[in-house]
Amino acid sequence: MTKETELPDLPTEITPQSQDFGRWYIDVVRRAELADYSPVKGCMVIRPYGYAIWELMQQALDKRFKETGHVNAYFPLFIPESLLMKEAEHVEGFAPQVAWVTQGGTEVLEERLVVRPTSETIIGTMYAKWVHSWRDLPILINQWANVVRWEKVTRLFLRTTEFLWQEGHTAHETAEEAEAETRQMLGVYKNFAETELAMPVIDGQKTESEKFAGADRTYSIEALMRDGRALQAGTSHNLGQNFSKSYEIKFQARDKSVQYAWTTSWGVSTRMIGAVIMTHGDDGGLILPPRVAPYQVVVVPIPRGNWKETVLPKARALRDELIKRGIRVHIDDRDSQTPGWKFNEWELRGVPLRMEIGPKDLEKSQVVLARRDTREKSFVPMDGLPDEVERLLLTIQQALFDRALAFRTEHTSETDSYDEFKQIMDGRPGFVVAPWCGSTICEADIKSETQATIRNIPFTSAPAAGATCIKCNGESTVRAWFAKSY
Ligand SMILES: [Zn+2]
Repeated sequence: MTKETELPDLPTEITPQSQDFGRWYIDVVRRAELADYSPVKGCMVIRPYGYAIWELMQQALDKRFKETGHVNAYFPLFIPESLLMKEAEHVEGFAPQVAWVTQGGTEVLEERLVVRPTSETIIGTMYAKWVHSWRDLPILINQWANVVRWEKVTRLFLRTTEFLWQEGHTAHETAEEAEAETRQMLGVYKNFAETELAMPVIDGQKTESEKFAGADRTYSIEALMRDGRALQAGTSHNLGQNFSKSYEIKFQARDKSVQYAWTTSWGVSTRMIGAVIMTHGDDGGLILPPRVAPYQVVVVPIPRGNWKETVLPKARALRDELIKRGIRVHIDDRDSQTPGWKFNEWELRGVPLRMEIGPKDLEKSQVVLARRDTREKSFVPMDGLPDEVERLLLTIQQALFDRALAFRTEHTSETDSYDEFKQIMDGRPGFVVAPWCGSTICEADIKSETQATIRNIPFTSAPAAGATCIKCNGESTVRAWFAKSY
């Protein structure tokens, strides 16, 4: 990442993906006005167009959380040091990334505070006060918040010191309920990613070495970016009784015995925006799935003759018809730019459909619709326009999913040979499905030799009958999904 203090100018051109994918990504994020560097090292500014995408994601997720019985609440940004220290594995996992508050005004604090890197500790402390009986369970709370994790290497949306997310925290009576909750929320994330973001994901279990600090089990959804690297897009953790024992979340059970609650946590973040950019974008810039596009249609009136008296009023009337259907529309009626410039600009910013309307179209009672994903153009009668726009938006949403799925299929290989595994990782990367014995040592050796990590072990992974671990040739229990990752 460029030194933020330099605050470089916005790029005028977008670097082609094939030339430098990392550069392409940053160019798109900044040029499409999604986010920018800030004067604070490692922190980004989410610009209005990027924030509008986040708001659409929030709405779609929040609806799903509510439908599955969850409610929102808010807990403090600061966590006393003593609270953080109670869960040993958790502290060890997060300590290197924690930001400390040591002074308030001119006064040195008696107890240091951490800026929340995640909220299990403070929420667990509150649950201990709220839970007394099995009747108080389950607690199903979500929080929309910012968190801080001190990062050395940052990249807009993908890894920044401060980011926005949601964190669900639940407490249950039984181990089975907690496991069902953990799996349910991973399912919610998968459904969200595939339906709203048109991004196919692999859902499965993380290995011991990749799981959340303090969890019994971590599940994740993993997506494949267009450069062949995987991106972890969401996680759901079964925390067992680890946190409830450290934070004393106890209750009187139905049989009158005193039990520790079973807890879970799950989260997705603004990283999802990065995932959308790298799943769908091309050399022309961003391509947004209609369901999370701030503008689903941009109207570009063609300025000829007395267009402001003729074309523009009609364009506005058509816009209003579309808005009545709940379609998000923007008219670009700026005098200062040519239509050609506007076409290019809105393509770069990923608007799914462009509608052109000029004097000739007016005569013929038609408009031109141009798709961002395929660049196909069609003449569409004004009569019945909202139906056609709705149909095209659905078509584009599906086409983006299909294309991303085809890309993932093309970039997924299966092998039982470590030589072949290394060759694939050296060449055109992607997912490699390979038998693994379950040993952390093999996993670590593979990582140091190829940079590939186990992304997860899919729920659908068939037992690797007869196969042996690609690294040690030992008995293999599963086929794991490996990739280089973000
Ligand atoms: Zn092995």
